Amino acid sequence: ATPVAVLVGTGRGAQLGVLVTGPEAIETAGRLDTVVLDKTGTVTTGRMTLHEVIPAEGTTREELLALAAAAESGSQHPIARAIVAAAPDAPGASRFRTAAGRGVIAEVGGREVFAGSLAFARERGARVPDALVAAAEQAAGSVVVVGWSSFAGMSATARGVLVVADTVRDDSAAAVTGLRALGLDVVLLTGDNERVARDIAAQVGIDTVIAGASPEGKIAEIARLREAGHRVAMVGDGINDSAALAAADLGIAMGGGTDAARHASDITLVRESLGAVGDAVRLSRRMMSIIR
Ligand code: ADP
Ligand code: MG
Repeated sequence: ATPVAVLVGTGRGAQLGVLVTGPEAIETAGRLDTVVLDKTGTVTTGRMTLHEVIPAEGTTREELLALAAAAESGSQHPIARAIVAAAPDAPGASRFRTAAGRGVIAEVGGREVFAGSLAFARERGARVPDALVAAAEQAAGSVVVVGWSSFAGMSATARGVLVVADTVRDDSAAAVTGLRALGLDVVLLTGDNERVARDIAAQVGIDTVIAGASPEGKIAEIARLREAGHRVAMVGDGINDSAALAAADLGIAMGGGTDAARHASDITLVRESLGAVGDAVRLSRRMMSIIR
């Protein structure tokens, strides 16, 4: 039988905007010692905008942006949305493929166009001019390397770099402080580059940062923490982190996140705010202390 305290807690949780799947979720939330946060859409708003367009020699800004937007038009990733929004006249594209946490490929006017991380460009065997490597390494934001081949069947060349960024949620810093006050370790886990990750972490007061993690890498990090004896919650919006949500002791889906996030989670936050994570932990601890 479900103890009355848990039922009451579930109701109080709903009032706080914390939707719990069942009594186990409350029990787990009460025992956590580590909270792992996804970056994009979790600590940040997830509403990215295009900040820079850096073409390589021989490519125009217009061409770079148009082909990138065409290739990204099949993706719902915040990075893709930012690029598509910045190029309303982009040509059509077909044969969309997504490499989760790395980038996209599509056919645009007979050319195969890719857009993704620097690692993704290299993985695809693309030649990346030194000037673009330097631009990618200095960019103050998330970097998207864009490229294509001159002729079908030839290997691709990187043609430019786009830089996109979003901002931390107004209440993320206070939420992190609150989690610390509850005695929880807070970790930022992201597929984005180290520089962006460190910058966002510094803005909200997180010391432990794991960047450049693939979706599989995110699962591995969660598993590593659990094997070290930690009781881990993962908070995410479900874009490239659903598997990590499911791999944690407790998956917490961000309000405004994807259906995938809700399905992979034990707790769904109604509000688009990290503050609700601390509310959930506090409430769960109180419920568990009443039962014991
Ligand atoms: P996060 O962990 O911050 O939520 P993701 O795991 O979704 O980030 O993505 C990690 C990285 O993969 C991005 O920073 C970007 O370099 C690359 N990437 C993912 N999706 C796309 C896309 N649609 N277009 C370009 N790059 C992408
Ligand atoms: Mg994400």
